[in-house]
Amino acid sequence: MTSELSGKCACGNVRYEIRSEPLVTQACHCSDCQRTTGSAFVIHTIVCEEDFQITGETRMGIGPTGSGAGCELHSCVSCGVIVWVRYRYHKVPVIAVRAGTLENPDAVAPQAHIFTSRKLPWVSLPADVPSFAEGVDRSQVWSQESIERYESLPSID
Ligand SMILES: [Zn+2]
Ligand SMILES: [Zn+2]
Repeated sequence: MTSELSGKCACGNVRYEIRSEPLVTQACHCSDCQRTTGSAFVIHTIVCEEDFQITGETRMGIGPTGSGAGCELHSCVSCGVIVWVRYRYHKVPVIAVRAGTLENPDAVAPQAHIFTSRKLPWVSLPADVPSFAEGVDRSQVWSQESIERYESLPSID
């Protein structure tokens, strides 16, 4: 695993590699992400599932989402760190990788800050990155290439 976009859990039992350009990276400030990270916000890099290669045993928990559709939280069975998440409102095979688990977390940077209506008051957002009180407006943030890749993915249902 030599790709810049490789990562691991805290104990190293779970390792992964992202084998294509991520669709987008965003910071989510919603209450659910605050709770599951125990922090102010999460950094999610959205990738096509077929380009996500993972080794090591994980378990799946179910978490709430603002959409009501819920999400699957996939964590290392040994150390419990959540490595990736599936948001069920996506009807195509994309997943959110928790970018803090990357070997080089500075390899990605948020292209949008979302659910800033729940943002903790002491977090200052950069002026040059779009922010949204609720969900992202994809057309304002995603590259045209990413939108086309997303729309060309097969439907899950
Ligand atoms: Zn682990
Ligand atoms: Zn969130």
